[in-house]
Amino acid sequence: GRSLKELIEAGEQSFSFEFFPPKDEAGEEQLWSAVRALEPYAPTFVSVTYGAGGSSRGTTVRVTRRIAQETSLLPMAHLTCVGHTRAELEEILDEYAAAGVHHVMALRGDPEGGPRAEWTPTDGGLTYASELVEMVTAREEFRVGVAAFPEKHPSSPSLDHDADVLAAKARAGAEFAVTQMFFRAEDYVGLVERVRERGVDLPILPGIMPILNLAAIRRQGELIGTEVPTEVVDRIAAHDGDPVSMRAEGIALAAELCRDLLDAGAPGLHFYTLNRSKATLEIFEKLDVRP
Ligand code: FAD
Repeated sequence: GRSLKELIEAGEQSFSFEFFPPKDEAGEEQLWSAVRALEPYAPTFVSVTYGAGGSSRGTTVRVTRRIAQETSLLPMAHLTCVGHTRAELEEILDEYAAAGVHHVMALRGDPEGGPRAEWTPTDGGLTYASELVEMVTAREEFRVGVAAFPEKHPSSPSLDHDADVLAAKARAGAEFAVTQMFFRAEDYVGLVERVRERGVDLPILPGIMPILNLAAIRRQGELIGTEVPTEVVDRIAAHDGDPVSMRAEGIALAAELCRDLLDAGAPGLHFYTLNRSKATLEIFEKLDVRP
């Protein structure tokens, strides 16, 4: 089939949606209702994350298999190096292939203490995502995406080092990247420029997370190294005490960011759905995107 790079660049713009493995029956229902609501928008792919510490390994396989078998969508299964030997990683890849899943998001993952904690590789395992990219692309049945960080990975020494890391993942065979959430279009533009300066034409999809709960996003931002800019905080905080208009402002801000990114040449938008369709559909409405 066509490469994801070709698929992403084929249309005017690519849309994709990220889900996480549900933890219980109610979560399972919520996930599938979001999948069904978003399916008519014909995304380039939908991705399913891999739980911290590999806890949800079985669920990622199961959910991506069902997407492959029961929907028209192209599933992409995430995989991390956390707690796995090379042999285990190969086994999980066997499971993905048997499930009809041939697209893998290759990540390092985080130690228990989060992305800022010191990373100790598992005995017989991998140290960097680029090694996982090599392992996966060595098997011709898979195509691979990787993570990128517009505001720098929290344990990386510099933006330039990050661009070197992303270029190395592209040279190892990654076909595209998805970014961590961020709120300033210029941070994305800077990342793309640094990567292009290194002679790498990897498509980079911006990861979009609308702010529906300011406190939660700030907490998560602190952990992963994403700053919520003052002007964004001010616009949200102006609606304090009015949850409906606060939500509307979060959606409006996300739609503005999406438009700025597409105007700046982003090849598409990747939505962190949190297994719900409502916010993404509200953003689509503002962007005039129809099924
Ligand atoms: P790497 O590319 O290996 O980078 C990790 C660190 O090592 C960085 O600081 C980098 O600068 C440094 N580094 C890399 N290579 C070198 C080198 N050769 N020499 C020196 N330093 C180097 N986590 C999950 O657990 N499950 C998921 O499903 C998941 N999905 C994600 C999806 C996206 C789109 C993003 C952006 C993140 C996701 N994460 C997920 C989180 C991710 O695992 C963490 O951000 C992790 O800290 C970094 O992963 P990475 O793949 O970028 O690692």
